[in-house]
Amino acid sequence: MGTDLLSEICRSFVPGLACQHPGFIGPLCTRCGRDNLECGDPPTRPFSYIEPRLTLTMPEIDRLRNVNLKTLIRHKKLHLVLDLDNTLVHSTLSRNLTLEERDHLIKQYATKGLLSEVCDGVMLVKLRPGAREFLEKASAMFDLSVFTKGRRDYAEEVARVLDPDGSRFGSCRWRVMSREDCFTGKQKSLDVVLAHDRVVLIVDDNEEVWAHNNKGNLIKIAPYRFFLPPKNLSEAVKSACRFEDNEAKEEGEFARVLKTLKEVHDTFYEDSFMIEYGHEVSISVKFLLERVHNSNVKTRNAIVN
Ligand SMILES: [Mg+2]
Ligand SMILES: [Zn+2]
Repeated sequence: MGTDLLSEICRSFVPGLACQHPGFIGPLCTRCGRDNLECGDPPTRPFSYIEPRLTLTMPEIDRLRNVNLKTLIRHKKLHLVLDLDNTLVHSTLSRNLTLEERDHLIKQYATKGLLSEVCDGVMLVKLRPGAREFLEKASAMFDLSVFTKGRRDYAEEVARVLDPDGSRFGSCRWRVMSREDCFTGKQKSLDVVLAHDRVVLIVDDNEEVWAHNNKGNLIKIAPYRFFLPPKNLSEAVKSACRFEDNEAKEEGEFARVLKTLKEVHDTFYEDSFMIEYGHEVSISVKFLLERVHNSNVKTRNAIVN
């Protein structure tokens, strides 16, 4: 799928047929400009992270996912949805730190691009050790997007901190999903991702926030915490600042998660696997992930016994 997703949506047109009304911006069809009431008011799903007030019909969502699937397969990639807080970064309110501590942290980390002030300086964001290297390695195997329960403006800023030149998340505008995109019981759901869920993996520290039918796509990562939670701050220890990272870059959670990602990705594209299970498109990453988990459990048990 090209970066100009909206023009791709508008292109949905079968010659000889009247406009299929693939989506709407506000009440108006993205293609013919007619009002949705005139178009029979088809059921739609909101995609405002792509374009404000954009909604798409189910046939159009399916068509875009099919276009995406072809692109993924051509580039031997899958799609990866990443959480932000406690997965790729840890944030705190700047006011939880003293001025001296903030200066110290900025000197220690910000100059290396590992710490950044966002939301007009209200929030301080610390990258998990190895976050950029993780994104670089993952992006060789996956199209990347972000899904956070944080607010959209915060999410887009943090995505830019992680990916300053836009080479990993592409155009942030339609690769960053946030609280505003949680419709199903206020949970995160792959319903708003324009890739078929059989080719989507998720990395998140929190399983609870995900819709029940997407939990099988999830690789859990241990939560990353750099700042102390404010509620634990006593009078004696006023600061939320740890100053030191408690996670190694090399053997941390990213290394473990990358190994699983690579196993699922490689198995998906293994020729022998495709022959064994028929057409590649019918394989689901859920099934592959379960196999990887089961074989890891077997290995662990073998070591224990
Ligand atoms: Mg999280
Ligand atoms: Zn139309």
